[in-house]
Amino acid sequence: MRRCDVLVVGGGPAGSTCATALVRAGLDVVVADQASFPRDKVCAGWITPAVVEELALDLADYRQGRTLEAVRGFRLGRMGDRTHLHRYADPMSYGIRRCEFDHYLLERSGARLALGLRVGAVARRGARWIVGDRFETDMLVGAGGHFCPVARSLGAEPDAAVIAAEEVEIAVADGDVAAGALEAGVPELYFTRDLTGYGWAFRKGAFVNIGLGVRVDSPSGAGNRAGPQLRRRVEDFVRLLIDMRRIARAPETRMVGHAYVTCRDSRRRRFGDGFVLVGDAAGLACERSGEGIRCAVESGMLAAQAIRDALARGSTLASDLCGYGEALDRRFGAAACAGPDPAALAPASLRRAVAAALMASEWFSRRVVLERWFLRSGEEALAPLSQPATRP
Ligand SMILES: Cc1cc2nc3c(=O)[nH]c(=O)nc-3n(C[C@H](O)[C@H](O)[C@H](O)COP(=O)(O)OP(=O)(O)OC[C@H]3O[C@@H](n4cnc5c(N)ncnc54)[C@H](O)[C@@H]3O)c2cc1C
Repeated sequence: MRRCDVLVVGGGPAGSTCATALVRAGLDVVVADQASFPRDKVCAGWITPAVVEELALDLADYRQGRTLEAVRGFRLGRMGDRTHLHRYADPMSYGIRRCEFDHYLLERSGARLALGLRVGAVARRGARWIVGDRFETDMLVGAGGHFCPVARSLGAEPDAAVIAAEEVEIAVADGDVAAGALEAGVPELYFTRDLTGYGWAFRKGAFVNIGLGVRVDSPSGAGNRAGPQLRRRVEDFVRLLIDMRRIARAPETRMVGHAYVTCRDSRRRRFGDGFVLVGDAAGLACERSGEGIRCAVESGMLAAQAIRDALARGSTLASDLCGYGEALDRRFGAAACAGPDPAALAPASLRRAVAAALMASEWFSRRVVLERWFLRSGEEALAPLSQPATRP
């Protein structure tokens, strides 16, 4: 049995960020993931500048041999309506590929890695956790994404709703007609007419990512049955992109589906004696845009801070981890996303009419939808990860 100070289950952005911060604080950290890296993750691969800042990403280093597309424009509209094209002089976001991004972050974390290790239900023995009959630890971080085993064992509460989404990422060569009229670095976002979600087409470097996500009420796991309906909506969206000549033909590769939860709809218990949940495991994605990478990174950083403080006091009890719950509330709670959505109180037909009128406005589309809801400009990033200690 190998001992470690902290065992992180899941090596996505939430797990690797938390592990990086803990390793840099001098703790012995193991990251266990069922996958061997590099591995892919169902995702459009759009990161906002806050992510770059918080992770202290060296973009010149990152782009060596990897896709990094600076985003300097967005096309936005409701499906079937007129779209607005918004351009910017400076990069407003970046396009990455998750198979590269997650691998890069995990490698630079400096944590011990246990890859190809599928973690099942976790068991507590006294004040310790025994994981996979291989590791023994006082502190467990559940970073295993939407279906995280730690969340299922310890934090499971039914989510109010899930975002059910499908995407595909295909390689395109320069001049390849398959990419249609899509411009590199100009993601296109098309809101569904019932405003429950949006589809996207995003050309980044030599790849095009196409997908669609919708919010599905899930009081009793209905989100898991969204499959066939979602598939139809995705097919309709792909046909629309072809009709609009944004792409030339339907991708031959089959779309892949996944689900995740926004901070408004999550009911998960995010910490307890000896454990915290981070990222999708905690259900923290941004309510308006569905952005999840930033929330994964930020919760990873906040959890690391709380764990460091608790371990410094010699305790991993929930009462010593409640700083994490408070930090989450400040960052993702009340003002950010908790409470009822006032728009939901209006009848659907009225919401659709108002949304159509608002989306037709270039000002609303740029300043509110794009800059406030999607780019969250004006919201400060967290202090970046500290640099690794250099050896004397
Ligand atoms: C279609 C789609 C498009 C999206 N597009 C964007 C986007 O463009 N930008 C954005 O910001 N967000 C996007 N998101 C959301 C974003 O992908 C997630 O919020 C983000 O990946 C969460 O990171 P995480 O580290 O919490 O979990 P994950 O990235 O899911 O990582 C979890 C890790 O845990 C591992 N794991 C799971 N179960 C086990 C187990 N039993 N044992 C061991 N390991 C396990 C997995 O292998 C995985 O490596 C999108 C989501 C979807 C579904």
